[in-house]
Amino acid sequence: MYFKICTIGELLVEFLAKTQNQRFDQTGEFIGPFVSGAPAIFADQVAKLGFPVVFFSCVGKDAFGKMCISRLKNDGVIIDGITSHHKANTGSAFVTYKDSNERDFIFNIPNSACGLLSFNHINENLLKDCTHLHVMGSSLYSFRVIDAMRKALDIIKSKGGTISFDPNLRKEMFDIPEMEQSFDYIMEYTDIFLPSENEVSYFAEHNGETEQQTMSTLLKKGIKHIVVKGGNKGANYYGLNEQGNLKTLHIDGCTVNSVDPTGAGDCFGATFVSLMLAGYSVEKALQYANASGALAVSKKGPMEGTSTLVELEQFLLHVSSK
Ligand code: ATP
Ligand code: MG
Repeated sequence: MYFKICTIGELLVEFLAKTQNQRFDQTGEFIGPFVSGAPAIFADQVAKLGFPVVFFSCVGKDAFGKMCISRLKNDGVIIDGITSHHKANTGSAFVTYKDSNERDFIFNIPNSACGLLSFNHINENLLKDCTHLHVMGSSLYSFRVIDAMRKALDIIKSKGGTISFDPNLRKEMFDIPEMEQSFDYIMEYTDIFLPSENEVSYFAEHNGETEQQTMSTLLKKGIKHIVVKGGNKGANYYGLNEQGNLKTLHIDGCTVNSVDPTGAGDCFGATFVSLMLAGYSVEKALQYANASGALAVSKKGPMEGTSTLVELEQFLLHVSSK
């Protein structure tokens, strides 16, 4: 089954606090640069699985930008959609860890090269060649990129393509009003929806409704597959069976030594979307995505835990033989 995925958004370098409970307002050691950005991690994971993926972004004409592009290229991402801008430096992020799952970020995105990303940077021939667009909520950081995303959604959908959406809400980004407004528009187009469990209430119609009630309503509105990501607890799938009845599945998280939670959701989403498009069953796509998220948290660095199909298969063999 032929498909080609694309994604649009932030490409940046990330610096990780060396010790837990390190603070941003006190001098401390950071390690990096690591290549990062949620859609970049997503694209890298798709490419590692061996599927074609185009990434549209901007970096500066600096060493960080070069590092980002060469890393993605080496992993097989189609980098023709990445512009090297002379007007701004490559984006960056700093992250501190409270416990293994709670993080604080300082993002330098809106004033960086990827903050300049607009529809003008999107080569329409490259875009029209794609059959699926993945949207990260974290990428809706400027009016320009929201506009680019809307146009890209229209183009992909008008030629019969499909859309996946991971809200990836970051409390640091909530001050952009256009971002919230664009969510409704994107949800109308979404085929595969990939929220985190703490984002579910944001999409509820009524206060206090259960996760299942919220998801049933979204399925009735036309979303085809939903996976709610639950960190080390695993994930819940919601879809409709052939009779149009609700189909739910739960998968427990794999037992791994978690050293860095960043990137788990992006790797999970990339694996689930790729394998669904490749024609795997929901059960199998969920199992591989769960493994992909588990392997992501077991490596330090946002994009260091992306896996090949063979690595996922070996990991799953090992897990099931325990
Ligand atoms: P983020 O907060 O970074 O956006 P997310 O909510 O998108 O993250 P998570 O739920 O943290 O994503 O992780 C995605 C998936 O990865 C989980 O559903 C699970 O399958 C796997 N996973 C994440 N953390 C762990 C862990 N500690 N152990 C095992 N599997 C994990
Ligand atoms: Mg996420």
